[in-house]
Amino acid sequence: MSVPVLVIEDEAPIRRLLRTSLSSQGFEIFEVATGAEALTALSHVKPDIVLLDLGLPDTDGLNIIRQLRAAKDNTPIVVLSARGEERSKVDALELGADDYVTKPFGIAELVARIRTALRHRVHEQGADPVYDHDGLHVDLTRRSVSLEGRAVHLSPKEYEILRLLVLHAGKVVTQRLLMREIWGAAGDIQYLRIYVRQLRSKLERDAQHPTRILTETGVGYRLIG
Ligand code: CA
Repeated sequence: MSVPVLVIEDEAPIRRLLRTSLSSQGFEIFEVATGAEALTALSHVKPDIVLLDLGLPDTDGLNIIRQLRAAKDNTPIVVLSARGEERSKVDALELGADDYVTKPFGIAELVARIRTALRHRVHEQGADPVYDHDGLHVDLTRRSVSLEGRAVHLSPKEYEILRLLVLHAGKVVTQRLLMREIWGAAGDIQYLRIYVRQLRSKLERDAQHPTRILTETGVGYRLIG
């Protein structure tokens, strides 16, 4: 069974690239080039996932996310964004996009993002409270964290940040969301950076070159997995 994907992108070469490379990986591609065509297509096909360019000729891609989510449509959305669009990426995530890739993107990276977004959609019904990846084990029910079998002690705020990253493992979590969840309106980016640095010093093999908690510059953090 192939997975239906709606590609909303006005650049023909990118659509062609997506069509040829994703078709061979078990995805069935439907393509449109404008926001208007996208809305028409969405009333006919029910894609499992949407790949969305933000810079469309007739509308801002953010409007498509807004319209879908306003209509209680939870189809996963992966944004295809241009370099330097950090603010748009954050806006897209806040509006309910699941993730993004930055052009020019590799197909392997895109497929990984798609699979993560699809997996999360399945898990939403019964969220898996255990994270187990590369020696790091986090059990959200028991509130326990261990690294290579040894218990790790985290402060309440460190744990809270890790918990949010685990709930979105594989996906980017915005700085804004982390600050709002942890400090409410009074969030300060400097504090967040300090806590992330502390977390890394406890969980990374080399805190200067993190391989678990990755920085998405200008956007947020991504726990691999
Ligand atoms: Ca475009």
